[in-house]
Amino acid sequence: MPEGNIIHRLARVHRRWLVGRQFTADSPQGRFTQDARRLSGRTLVGVEAHGKHLFHHFEGEVHLHLHLGLVGNIRHFRCAGPPPSTACRLRLASPHATLHLSGPQRCELLSPEAEAALRARLGEDPLRPEASAPRAFEALRRGRAPLATVLLDQARISGVGNILRAEALFLARLPPQLPAAELRPEDFERLWTALRELLEDAARDGRIVTPHSPPNALTLPGRRREDRFCVYDREGQPCPRCATPITRLSLSGRGLFFCPRCQAPRRGRR
Ligand SMILES: [Zn+2]
Repeated sequence: MPEGNIIHRLARVHRRWLVGRQFTADSPQGRFTQDARRLSGRTLVGVEAHGKHLFHHFEGEVHLHLHLGLVGNIRHFRCAGPPPSTACRLRLASPHATLHLSGPQRCELLSPEAEAALRARLGEDPLRPEASAPRAFEALRRGRAPLATVLLDQARISGVGNILRAEALFLARLPPQLPAAELRPEDFERLWTALRELLEDAARDGRIVTPHSPPNALTLPGRRREDRFCVYDREGQPCPRCATPITRLSLSGRGLFFCPRCQAPRRGRR
């Protein structure tokens, strides 16, 4: 599932290419036909990303809410675009920019009030300019669940997926199984900074590359995807800081990667 950086990147591209254009809308797949009719002929006036949610604002206060989920896909073309696939839920077409959406988890029209209500239920998004770090801290530290688990809870913090949580916890040198309630303000500050920096770089570059990942990894021939990361998907490989083999745990059915030394439980270290 795309993490927040991908959604913010889409929002930036769509702001540049699509805002100000008037679109005809249809649903080649047929599951969005009536709503597409309501969109058709309207001009796109703004695009917002909040965590893994994308909102296209059309004139007349008609807002399109998208959540790509596991298999959702957005393709855009700087032209009239090729014929859509039969799975295309929504096509927005204009002579110079076209968007094809398929397989979304959510695709719906919302009033501005309904969008505001939905977003009020989402956690702080580190990439949004108005994000409140104190509110994110309070939301994260509720309860005794492991920090690694609560980081994926979109109602506490928005946009973090499996790769980002592993890399941010490593950069912040935090034990993934630390009970959330034991998160100290100085821990949170490191974690928040790591999340913002990883997300910002990835939203710009289109993929997550963790600083401090092993040197020259990107230039090695036959490079592997996991060489962009410090710990994610690197079970058994040396930690880039201390060379201890990276550990993999399964937590709520998801793989969790960390350095058992740099991110040791802090018993006795307080
Ligand atoms: Zn280490």
